[in-house]
Amino acid sequence: PMGVCPLARRPLRDNFTGLLHPWARPEVLTCTSWGAPIIWDGTFDPDVAQQKAAQQNLTIGLTVFAVGRYLEKYLERFLETAERHFMVGQRVVYYVFTERPAAVPRVPLGPGRRLRVERVAREPRWQDVSMGRMRTLHEALGGRLGREARFVFCMDVDQHFSGAFGPEALAESVAQLHAWHYHWPRWLLPFERDARSAAALAPGEGDFYYHAALFGGSVAALRALTAHCAQGLRQDRARGLEARWHDESHLNKFFWLHKPAKVLSPEFCWSPDIGRRAEIRRPRLLWAPKEYALVRA
Ligand code: UDP
Ligand code: MN
Repeated sequence: PMGVCPLARRPLRDNFTGLLHPWARPEVLTCTSWGAPIIWDGTFDPDVAQQKAAQQNLTIGLTVFAVGRYLEKYLERFLETAERHFMVGQRVVYYVFTERPAAVPRVPLGPGRRLRVERVAREPRWQDVSMGRMRTLHEALGGRLGREARFVFCMDVDQHFSGAFGPEALAESVAQLHAWHYHWPRWLLPFERDARSAAALAPGEGDFYYHAALFGGSVAALRALTAHCAQGLRQDRARGLEARWHDESHLNKFFWLHKPAKVLSPEFCWSPDIGRRAEIRRPRLLWAPKEYALVRA
């Protein structure tokens, strides 16, 4: 079962979405120019995705960092709602990275689901916590996480699940359309433009602006992604530079060079501050309000 990508004029191949119905949402873009599906509500059959994933007996990783005040503020709700909505019916392993393992809330987990806590150092600047994730993830993917999981999603903690987030989202590499930018003209997108930065995109470059609060893929693809981003961050630091949106700028550079196999619509990671939009039917994750004064020292 395949849909046809209207832009690339070739079949959309997809192991997990099963029945693809890109024509079910004529008002939005449902595939990229390189033939990757853009997953909107109604363009996939969640039951087929579920069955296909179950046949493969997958373990799916979900990584999240909760350092400093982000732990008390967000982690419990993130995990509780993940139990209700994230890959229900599949085997799941959560990886929580924190400097205070003992403070991680004990959220009751369903069958086939486990939680591992990994200790990380607390960087003094929030930007360094955010950027440091790429290196830590790279190491984790080369270790136990990489051996345990077939696919992994890496997420921000300052959000919670509000709808089913299932195997329809799985692919070799997965990028999230940024809720604030998906309808902006390309030239306005906030890519890093300083040519000295490893994250720089030249004028005319960049397909979409992707959100670093959610990315995923196979272990091998994520090893490559995190290596690229960690290397770019290191190179910028050595030159006294910091890209405009930190690790997100480097993520966007990576996905420009290595096109994602699947793109998630903004329904998968939505900001309630944007208000109602006709094309946003059922948000899967909702951003928490940005309470920077509380969580950023
Ligand atoms: N983070 C953290 N402690 C910090 C800063 C960041 O745990 O002091 C983690 C947390 O998972 C957070 C993510 O890094 O969701 C990205 O930071 P933030 O959400 O503040 O960035 P934004 O989404 O506002 O760009
Ligand atoms: Mn965030």
